[in-house]
Amino acid sequence: MKRLSLVLAFAALTAISFFATRGTAQPNTVRQIAPGVWFREGDIEHLGHCNNVIIEMKDYLIVVDANFPSGARATIEDAKKVSPKPVKYVFDTHHHGDHLYGNVVWTRAGATTLAFSGVADELKRYEPARWQEAVKSREDVRELKPDAPEPPKETFSDSPHVIEDGTRRVELYFFGWAHTRGDGFVYLPKEKVLCTGDAVVNGPYNYTADGNIGNWPKVIEKAQKLAVEHVLPGHGPAGGVEMMANQRLFFIELHNRVAAAVKRGKKIEDLVKKEGDREVSTIVMPSTVRTWVGPSLAAEVHDAYREIIEKKPVGDLPH
Ligand SMILES: [Zn+2]
Repeated sequence: MKRLSLVLAFAALTAISFFATRGTAQPNTVRQIAPGVWFREGDIEHLGHCNNVIIEMKDYLIVVDANFPSGARATIEDAKKVSPKPVKYVFDTHHHGDHLYGNVVWTRAGATTLAFSGVADELKRYEPARWQEAVKSREDVRELKPDAPEPPKETFSDSPHVIEDGTRRVELYFFGWAHTRGDGFVYLPKEKVLCTGDAVVNGPYNYTADGNIGNWPKVIEKAQKLAVEHVLPGHGPAGGVEMMANQRLFFIELHNRVAAAVKRGKKIEDLVKKEGDREVSTIVMPSTVRTWVGPSLAAEVHDAYREIIEKKPVGDLPH
């Protein structure tokens, strides 16, 4: 009885947050998006966490993204609150620490980690150097052994890779290189839910250093062909298809505005200036994409500039 009332209280809370928060940041909350589909908004600001999605199948759960180790533990606890079923699969949308370093926490809890093969390739390219960097600032990474990220246990290159059990169909897509060479999307066709990882974020959270800025809009265009109602991004609040349109526009504008400045003979020191100990960009982005413009714009302009000058995806350039 006590358990039931707790469950009901939780259901009421998530229902309230659903109506109160569409489009507004609410870190560390879980809310139902569709029957058996929950969105957990990670606290990126204080904990560096990504968002997670919990998908209920007939006998088990699928979780989107492993998160950092502390985010993995928080999501494991939240998954228990919404369903007694075990987590069978955890899908890494890409290789970044805030989406994948918790892999070992999940596999020790009995789950199998999954990803597109590009994620495993990116780990070979960048690790364990980044893990060792993260150790300096993150206790949850430091305490884990072995001292390197655990690669996904299963990888695949067929797109879509389908998981189906008669109650639900889950399609895992790879549409090409946007944020990383391994960007995976999770699509629920019946529920019209699309989980985008960091290929689409909802806020000033774009990180472009491993990316392909010129190709990014094309990846989003492929995702836009799916019938979608709910977009669940890697960072920032859940929303609708307008998020995909504006994220795409952000990258088109970023690329075009930097390319136009280069054409006018501008150098990087004209586009990114020092202001105290931080860099600010002189590129002005249109108000339609202001949600995506934040302190990282200078770095994004820098990456776009390099990509344009070197005629190569910025992720292929030394960094
Ligand atoms: Zn990322």
